[in-house]
Amino acid sequence: MNSFLEISEEIPCQCGSGKKYGDCCKNKRFKIGTKDDDLVKETTIDEEVMKTLEEIKKIFFEDYGINPGENDFVAWNIPIYNHDMLLENVYLFRELGFQENHIYAYYKSDGLLPCDINTDLLSQSDIEEFESLCKEYDELLNEELEGHINSIQYVINSDTYINEQVEYALEAIISSLNDLIRRHSGTNSIREYKITTEADYCIFSALKTVRTLQSINKLRETHLPECIYALSRGIFENYMYICNINMDSSLFKDKILPKVDEVNYTFDLHPDGRINYNKVINRKTKIKTPIRIIISNLKDNLPYDEIDPSLIASLIAIILATLLLSKISQNREIQTQYTNDVLYLCKNLSYKFINCLEIAKCDEEHTNEIFDLLLDRLKEQF
Ligand SMILES: [Zn+2]
Repeated sequence: MNSFLEISEEIPCQCGSGKKYGDCCKNKRFKIGTKDDDLVKETTIDEEVMKTLEEIKKIFFEDYGINPGENDFVAWNIPIYNHDMLLENVYLFRELGFQENHIYAYYKSDGLLPCDINTDLLSQSDIEEFESLCKEYDELLNEELEGHINSIQYVINSDTYINEQVEYALEAIISSLNDLIRRHSGTNSIREYKITTEADYCIFSALKTVRTLQSINKLRETHLPECIYALSRGIFENYMYICNINMDSSLFKDKILPKVDEVNYTFDLHPDGRINYNKVINRKTKIKTPIRIIISNLKDNLPYDEIDPSLIASLIAIILATLLLSKISQNREIQTQYTNDVLYLCKNLSYKFINCLEIAKCDEEHTNEIFDLLLDRLKEQF
């Protein structure tokens, strides 16, 4: 086996910067050279990395009963780096409060992130690429407005604005629904809830909506727009029911009350006695029916090419919740004072939502007839 031979300082650097090796990556913590006719990058391993490698070796031995050989992957137990992971990291970095221009450069460079501990290990051209992407972001964000807005300005500002409105509205609607539940009911447990009057049904809808909005808030953090849409369909159904009940109370007595009684159906149980929320069982016939939510086509969120789709999904869900809240408050069995409070809140929110929808409509990715329907509904109702 031949020993390592560093390349000449005079030849162009292998990192692709176009400079001579001597003026480029020569002074890094790695050396470029040849070994057995192969071009290699050689580096020293510090104590911390050595310790990690020893740990990985131990896990390998525990899993396979032998020590890793020359052709085994060093980090075989780490997930394969791909676009999904890149996106997950973008959202993680945002939560950690990284500078947005660094996150942008990380995303656009497909995973570069120079920092104090790794700059010495990255080639000069990688560092230059990262820096120029940071600069690109800053320039795009600060570009003068001349009758147009570039996509970075549009996406970043829209995301920030819509996110603020969504957060504010979520909190306001949840506390208003909780207020209704406190005023009109002694329980906030969905399972113990008995429905005998229209008001009971309204409060039941309020309880469900609070839970749904709380779940949507969690899904928003994990960026699952399709799941948020699935949950907002539930809010929309509630809204339609309350609209119909408000117009014709016989609907409640004839159609809804028989459905929500617990005489005919109950949840199935797991063998260990826990409730199985995936199956309902007919008490008389004992026939079990599976309940499934099928989530298909989970779409990639492209953080710099369009407004965050989970934000748009949350916005739609919250607008539906606002419409529902207003309809609940207008039911004939609900206290007048509550109705007045809610109408004031909903009117206030609807102005903000109209702005958000107008902004979202500009994004080609989100051109959607739902926006127009919601805009009409908000304008006519409030
Ligand atoms: Zn170089």
